[in-house]
Amino acid sequence: KRRNRLSLEEYKSGVLSGDRVGLSRAITLVESTLDSDNELAAKLIDEVYQYTGNSFRVGITGVPGVGKSTFIESFGQHVIDSGKKLAVLTIDPSSQKTGGSILGDKTRMEKLSRSHQAFIRPSPSGDALGGVAHKTRETMLLCEAAGYDFIFIETVGVGQSETAVKNMVDFFLLLMLAGAGDELQGIKKGIMEMADAIAINKADGENINNAQKAKKEYQNALHLFPANENGWIPKVKTCSSLNDEGLQSILELLNKFNLEQKESGFFDKNRKEQAIHWMHQTIHHFLKQNFYKSPEILKKLSNFEEEVRNGNKHSVQAARTLLNHYFK
Ligand code: GDP
Repeated sequence: KRRNRLSLEEYKSGVLSGDRVGLSRAITLVESTLDSDNELAAKLIDEVYQYTGNSFRVGITGVPGVGKSTFIESFGQHVIDSGKKLAVLTIDPSSQKTGGSILGDKTRMEKLSRSHQAFIRPSPSGDALGGVAHKTRETMLLCEAAGYDFIFIETVGVGQSETAVKNMVDFFLLLMLAGAGDELQGIKKGIMEMADAIAINKADGENINNAQKAKKEYQNALHLFPANENGWIPKVKTCSSLNDEGLQSILELLNKFNLEQKESGFFDKNRKEQAIHWMHQTIHHFLKQNFYKSPEILKKLSNFEEEVRNGNKHSVQAARTLLNHYFK
């Protein structure tokens, strides 16, 4: 796949102009796995960094079928109607392994993608979760520099990507269904614990009563978790993405959170902690990448695997020896 390389200045002005084509090109650069592209991408991020940080970053998760794309399509319209620009980034780890995808090939969020106030971008495919999270975060920064006020990062709620996303957003929204046990929904307790709000979707038709019941249950469940340092008590809402009901109230909740957390200083505090987290993540990621790319290590690796397989060396011993080679 050939692509014209632009200059740093061209990428930068493309992003800052707020034009979607310019933004898309810059994201493609960030997603590239070529070393030379990575270098340019890092420079681009440096160049635009002063224009980032001004959006409200929202993680949205839930198992396949809960209605994420329907929700984002309808809810996104409320965001746009409030005069804001919205970027939606989707992370689908399943697409890296199988080439297939949980999120599917169907055209998602068709209406939203036609709006000039919206920008929708599927996840980069990478070979490591760390790498994907890294690129998603950089993509988010580019969207901010391009002037998007809200960033939604969507994940499928079944893997580890939620923790990574939690660490790059201001607000974490979990979509659930009424009537299905948590087991059935595949949602881990850890993910519920991360939620700043739960929205019980498909609260329509015969489902309304169940949704109200589920709302109480989840409210009780959330109270059992330790209180957040920021003083925010996670809220439970019901909505119908299909009928566009309850969505405005969720947007008001998000805005309330944004305002309160900024006033109390916890918004900023969280961002600073996240910045430190990402410094370490970046170190971990690049050390690992560099290690496994090192010609000397690559030469030795299969021998060492063989030694461990034969029982001549134990795992930790083998790892230590390789690490010593690398760091010597
Ligand atoms: P995703 O896999 O989480 O992105 O879920 P989708 O948005 O593709 O929705 C899965 C199915 O649920 C689709 O058939 C939607 O039409 C349906 N759906 C989504 N939201 C609602 C809702 O609020 N009410 C009802 N009744 N169906 C919904």
